[in-house]
Amino acid sequence: MYAFSGMPSKTTLDDSAWFDRAKCKGASNAVFYPQRGVPSASALAMCRSCDVRVDCLEYALSNDEEFGIWGGLSERERRKLKRDRERLSAVLTTRFS
Ligand code: SF4
Repeated sequence: MYAFSGMPSKTTLDDSAWFDRAKCKGASNAVFYPQRGVPSASALAMCRSCDVRVDCLEYALSNDEEFGIWGGLSERERRKLKRDRERLSAVLTTRFS
């Protein structure tokens, strides 16, 4: 998600290039920080057509962004994805170590 109050706090100059191509650049806070954590149709439409969706999602996952819509996923969806990845990693580690 492009910064609504500037850049996300943990962004460094080296990894922020994708923000320049964010579809949501300049969008309203209310669209990407929904009250109940449920992405609005307009946020999802923007994410769906955003060229940097994967960068955005990976940024949020690696920086533990707790709030808002990133890469088209809500907080809850990102937590689940992170858990799923951790489980998969554990399975692969067990299987191939
Ligand atoms: S994927 Fe969505 S939240 Fe992320 S930069 Fe694109 S439009 Fe913004």
